[in-house]
Amino acid sequence: TEACLTAIEGAGALNAFVHKTPEVAREMAQAADARIKAGNAVAMTGIPLGIKDLFCTKGVESQAASRILTGFRPEYESTVTQNLWDAGAVMLGKLNMDEFAMGSSNESSAYGNAVNPWKGRDGADLTPGGSSGGSAAAVGADLCLAATGTDTGGSIRQPAAFTGTVGLKPTYGRVSRWGVIAFASSLDQAGPMTKSVRDAAIMLGAMASVDEKDSTSAEIPVPDFEAALTGDIRGKKIGIPREYRMDGMPDEIDALWRQGAEMLRDAGAEIVDISLPHTKYALPAYYVIAPAEASSNLARYDGVRYGLRAKLGQGDGITDMYEKTRAEGFGPEVQRRIMIGTYVLSAGFYDAYYNRARRVRALIKRDFDQAYAAGVDAILTPATPSSAFALGSMADADPVAMYLNDVFTVTVNLAGLPGISVPVGQDAQGLPLGLQLIGRPFEEGDLLNQALVLE
Ligand code: GLN
Repeated sequence: TEACLTAIEGAGALNAFVHKTPEVAREMAQAADARIKAGNAVAMTGIPLGIKDLFCTKGVESQAASRILTGFRPEYESTVTQNLWDAGAVMLGKLNMDEFAMGSSNESSAYGNAVNPWKGRDGADLTPGGSSGGSAAAVGADLCLAATGTDTGGSIRQPAAFTGTVGLKPTYGRVSRWGVIAFASSLDQAGPMTKSVRDAAIMLGAMASVDEKDSTSAEIPVPDFEAALTGDIRGKKIGIPREYRMDGMPDEIDALWRQGAEMLRDAGAEIVDISLPHTKYALPAYYVIAPAEASSNLARYDGVRYGLRAKLGQGDGITDMYEKTRAEGFGPEVQRRIMIGTYVLSAGFYDAYYNRARRVRALIKRDFDQAYAAGVDAILTPATPSSAFALGSMADADPVAMYLNDVFTVTVNLAGLPGISVPVGQDAQGLPLGLQLIGRPFEEGDLLNQALVLE
């Protein structure tokens, strides 16, 4: 814990930690020491972690990197973080992210973006990815041993790929959403961001629980994920979906993908070509459903209950208060999502957009169901269409260009499946590249065991 606190002090330029809690950390570390001395150490006793700013942590700022939650200190602890503290982990502080987890580059954060510890040509600053960019930067730069992330459309897996770290999005329902500030409730899932597959297995075991406080928590017992890590994947069938071979895919991504398939084959898996025919509709469906749910979830930030309230002029009424607070408190990307979401849910367009997107979502899920019914155990794809891009290079462009970054990851959230990003190789500049493995529902142990072969 002391080593991490020192490293954090020296890494201000990465802007990864947005609230540091050194006193809390030292107190928790001392409690962990006592537990170890008493012979009562459990899974994560004494392991220093960073927590994404999206998790409510009791008495500690939890702002979802938004101005609208300025000064918000929850009265309660999220189930996930409580589970981690119960398992003995130590909190170092809160980590930077895109505002309300909306983004792929960390540039929508009210704190300014986190920076990737890897540098581009001539030392150029790169994005750590998003939305869990602070988590990825912190793990990648050894500021903590692991971090929590959340993933609605790729926000754990893409930043992991950009920083050479491991990121796991569990099956929807595996990890409680209680106390995690909501973005798109039918897609959001928290998961571990770690330095290794084994760490991800241990940390997922500590994070996951059956939770009556989350109505979508699955009543499926949490197995020992670490015990599943045998390294033996002989006879497993790994699908390569042809629809993920996109036009204009860089050669290095294609080469990496082949290399990953070779590694799995060499370990005794059978590699099969599969088809997931509705893949091309995933991104448009996601960018209807996620903003729709976000517009509803974010209606609660009205200047009355939490955080910011804009200064009002004489004669301003309650509507002015709502309008001014929301105009000041939400950044441009969040405002864009609220407008899109409100539009697709409006009476005249609900069927044309929202209902159609839901039908497409069902077809995407069916594609995966059929592949698994045909005996496929996991699906191998690239994690991202490129390595980490330069900060500033995408933010001012057409927002759709940024959305395209999620092309390989959103399908997994739409289908509610577990997915993991593992660092496998490097691009021509020496920057990390990741591959994604998509597993069967609630078979994270199997998925982690396959990922071990790629590590
Ligand atoms: N980049 C995607 C978005 O902006 C995914 C974000 C996430 O997974 N939280 O919606």
